[in-house]
Amino acid sequence: MKYETVMGLEVHVELDTESKLFCSCSAKFGARPNENVCPACAGMPGMPAVLNEKALQLAIAAALVTNSEITEVMTFDKKNYFYPDLPAGYQITQWFSPVCRNGRVEIETKAGKKTINLKQIHIEEDAGKLVHDVLPGATLADFNRTSVPLIEIVSMPDFRSAEEVTAYLEKLRSLLSFAGVSDCKMQEGSMRCDVNISVRETGSKELGVRTEIKNMNSLKAIAAAIAYETERHTDYLETGAGRLIQETRRWDDSAGESFSMREKENATDYRYFPNPELMPVIINEKMIKTVRDGLPEPADKKFTRFTEKLGLSEYDAGLITGSKNLSDIFDETMKYIENPKEIANRILVDLLALAKGDNKGEDDVSVDCRKFAKLIEMTENKTINRNISKKLLALVLQEGIDPETYVKDNKLGMIGDAGEVEKAVLEVIKENAGSVVEYRGGSTKVFGFLVGQTMRKLGGKADPQIVNRLLAEALGQN
Ligand code: ZN
Ligand code: MN
Repeated sequence: MKYETVMGLEVHVELDTESKLFCSCSAKFGARPNENVCPACAGMPGMPAVLNEKALQLAIAAALVTNSEITEVMTFDKKNYFYPDLPAGYQITQWFSPVCRNGRVEIETKAGKKTINLKQIHIEEDAGKLVHDVLPGATLADFNRTSVPLIEIVSMPDFRSAEEVTAYLEKLRSLLSFAGVSDCKMQEGSMRCDVNISVRETGSKELGVRTEIKNMNSLKAIAAAIAYETERHTDYLETGAGRLIQETRRWDDSAGESFSMREKENATDYRYFPNPELMPVIINEKMIKTVRDGLPEPADKKFTRFTEKLGLSEYDAGLITGSKNLSDIFDETMKYIENPKEIANRILVDLLALAKGDNKGEDDVSVDCRKFAKLIEMTENKTINRNISKKLLALVLQEGIDPETYVKDNKLGMIGDAGEVEKAVLEVIKENAGSVVEYRGGSTKVFGFLVGQTMRKLGGKADPQIVNRLLAEALGQN
């Protein structure tokens, strides 16, 4: 390879707090425009800023799970720039003394393990949102997101491929979501990524001209943008084609191209200075210990527990611990019924299929775990069969039915009475003489069809094992 791509990442992650960073407005996603705004987060002069303690704890948690060195005296600074979604005219961030530095995150790709070094993580407030397409010819400002707490995780330029970038983002998502720092939902913007990218001759010590692609929120788009920028930079180096300057670019995923937004500012353009309205914050050992002691079980520990203690396959455990939400559902359901394999099976097969039909992903699906456990238990002890159980799970999700009451009221209990099943089997054999001949002629395919017919006669409620056995017996006879 003649050239290599060098990348560093800036990842913004929204902290999972109830309220904003310096006021008591709600930080919830999805409110009506400007529902969650007060004079402080609208940038009115003279409003005092009061630091959200939960935000600080979550930032410390992020520092711990990324093996960072936590700062003893952390300060807040002002980053000055004017933009309509930033009503104060500056962003409160950390420039001189961020919450932590020198972290390390281990990633794994096909090439093996690699450590990505972090320059720092700092706490800052988010900006608002501009809406361009509601009123023709006008832009509207929604300040709900203004001053929602973020951390920005700044890596060193340690990435050499899109695969490494993707692995790192997946790893961050796992570390931070399992630690309760953030839900890290890229599609809702609670995790966003800026990629700083340059291309140089392999072996060169100097970095090439750097461009920054801003605010990407899907792994696919990030990989596509990296491929596009790499090619654009390489073309320039080889032929001088195009224009390569230090700038900020926007990735247009539908066009499959990046576009220039503005020439990249340097740090001095922001005139950072210490924020005189916020006192320095001393982070002592006791605070760190409290956060460390409260950290929930991380994904890799869960994986080990699921495989070694609970006997799940590595495949199933990998899928469940790939999502904080799924592993919470698993652990919660385990409180009611200790049947790890069946719980895993039901989550990965039934629950995810139902969620998908509802356009929900693994991070959004939710279920009443007590009812979920009840359904599994009723299937295992043969109160209902597997098929009915799956249908009832859909009703639990959609209508919140209580499985036991519903089965009783609708007489959905499993038919395990051999006499009743046998009667149905004999009727089916009589009604499907053609299929019976085919079966006896060696076509075993029709067996499934006959099972289906028998099941139907019994309202789908029969014990499939008994149906199979009695049908095989009856067909074996002449
Ligand atoms: Zn506010
Ligand atoms: Mn930032």
